[in-house]
Amino acid sequence: MKKIFLTICAAILMMTSPARAEIFIDNFILWTAHRDELIDEYTLKHYGKICREIVPQAVVVHWTAFGTLESVWKYFYAEEMPDDEGRLNVASQFIVDRDGTIWRLMPETKFARHIIGYNHCAIGIENVGGYNGREDLTEEQLAANVRLIKYLHEKYPTIKYVFGHYQQGKARASGLFIENVPDYYAIKTDPGPKFMRGLREQLEKDGLTFYDE
Ligand SMILES: [Zn+2]
Repeated sequence: MKKIFLTICAAILMMTSPARAEIFIDNFILWTAHRDELIDEYTLKHYGKICREIVPQAVVVHWTAFGTLESVWKYFYAEEMPDDEGRLNVASQFIVDRDGTIWRLMPETKFARHIIGYNHCAIGIENVGGYNGREDLTEEQLAANVRLIKYLHEKYPTIKYVFGHYQQGKARASGLFIENVPDYYAIKTDPGPKFMRGLREQLEKDGLTFYDE
């Protein structure tokens, strides 16, 4: 009888566990028909197709190199920015604060401009930090990224790759890179090899492909 009672308690606990719901907090950036137009313009120019929605095949990890959670969110909020290569402002689907708090900035499969060549298929996670190029991301951020990537991988089995922005060259081995504008390229160091090693150690066993740090 006691055993049955304990089993029922465990089942109730599992059903009411808030862990899944608390992975992230929604705090969406501005999204109007104008952002959709800017996305159309950017994706036609760079990928040769209109791509407002993505089928996620990769997760790309970044650091912000500046600001706080709030100031980065404000930076991403605007729809437009002045840039010869496209007026669509930069953004990512997620930002992780230094204490591991995760904000979701848009529905996960909406198009975001965060890495040249892969935006058409990659979900971006920004991590607040990397000031002056230092590998200063926290243990809390590492744990939060692991939780978030596990959640995404479970939800979107099409995700096969996880790489850091600085691994964009190596990631061409995935065959996912598309860029129609010649010489449109930016050298990146984020989020550093230490952080990517930490992710690889905890996630490679889930069947995700990583690249040498
Ligand atoms: Zn980046």
